[in-house]
Amino acid sequence: MKISLELIAEKKLKPLFKDPLMLPFGRYFTDYMFTMEYSQGQGWQNPCIKPHQPLVLQPSANVFHYSQEVFEGQKAYQSKKGEILMFRPLENARRLNRSLQRLCMPEIDENNFLQAECELLKLEKRWIPTQKGASLYIRPAVIGTEAALGVKASSEYLFFIILSPVGPYFKEGFNSVSLWVSDTYSRAGSGGTGEAKTGGNYAGSLLATREAIQKGYSQVLWLDACEHRFIEEVGAMNIFFILNGKLVTPALDGTILHGITRKSVLELAAGLGIQAEERKIAIEEVIEGIQSGKLTEVFGAGTAAVISPVGKIGYQGKDYLVNEQRTGTWAQTFFKTLIGLQYGEIPDRHGWVYKVQ
Ligand SMILES: *Cc1c(COP(=O)(O)O)cnc(C)c1O
Repeated sequence: MKISLELIAEKKLKPLFKDPLMLPFGRYFTDYMFTMEYSQGQGWQNPCIKPHQPLVLQPSANVFHYSQEVFEGQKAYQSKKGEILMFRPLENARRLNRSLQRLCMPEIDENNFLQAECELLKLEKRWIPTQKGASLYIRPAVIGTEAALGVKASSEYLFFIILSPVGPYFKEGFNSVSLWVSDTYSRAGSGGTGEAKTGGNYAGSLLATREAIQKGYSQVLWLDACEHRFIEEVGAMNIFFILNGKLVTPALDGTILHGITRKSVLELAAGLGIQAEERKIAIEEVIEGIQSGKLTEVFGAGTAAVISPVGKIGYQGKDYLVNEQRTGTWAQTFFKTLIGLQYGEIPDRHGWVYKVQ
């Protein structure tokens, strides 16, 4: 793929943020973006790297009314040797295509996806923080752009990639988060779009999250939509339990997002000395485990926070504390291992670390 390039004069480039470790999530953007357009009959065309700028769309564009939108979330890291590293980016390319398929949108060639990211990252290398914990967040997204109000799949799409330097989720060690279990709202139902990384899933979850925050929790722990009994995930993170000395996580049943951090934690488990189990977990089993001491840790796993220890679970008006709200040793172990791999400090036996060249 030949990507055209619209360069910015050196003196017009944005100044870098002074302390990347203090960067808030997703508020600052780099100088450039990647775009590529699709139209029926012609396929994907006009790959282009150009200045980061507003999009111009008709108010009747599909995405505003019928939400044909999918996205990805990745990070680029800079190693001590100055290499640009990504973590399992082909997994993101594949997942983007599965999301696109589910939303009736045209797929993007995996190699072209990766090439677009690599060329953009090489051009924007000065934005990739060198401090451990800080990174350059990558947000690829595809939207339906056809200007037509009839309900149907758009015949035109825009694929874009924007970059945002971000600080570490945890400034000093870990802070545990608190989760509110909603037994009325659901995030995704059987046969729905829970498995796709699409904005609509998030729009539908905002009200429950607002209620959780009003009650003093940080996020929602979702249960299945049918019985409101079985644990699903935390919205932007998959969830893990250390139960009876085993690593347990809900099995992927079609409503849970296929997290790449989740997959990596499961694949690391055996090598780190813990048996992993993917299965149904009822909320009663979690509560009972906390009360009996069989459940020793809970943590979330996702690209943004990597590993996020859970210290408190609120369910039906009662609070249950996990591990006295301290970070558990397994959360710490998985966090250190993943971060070490991502920054190129731990030998990569799995072939997960991708060097941008
Ligand atoms: C992105 C996302 C995750 C985490 O996936 P990673 O690939 O690990 O970043 C989990 N749940 C939902 C709903 C998500 O959108």
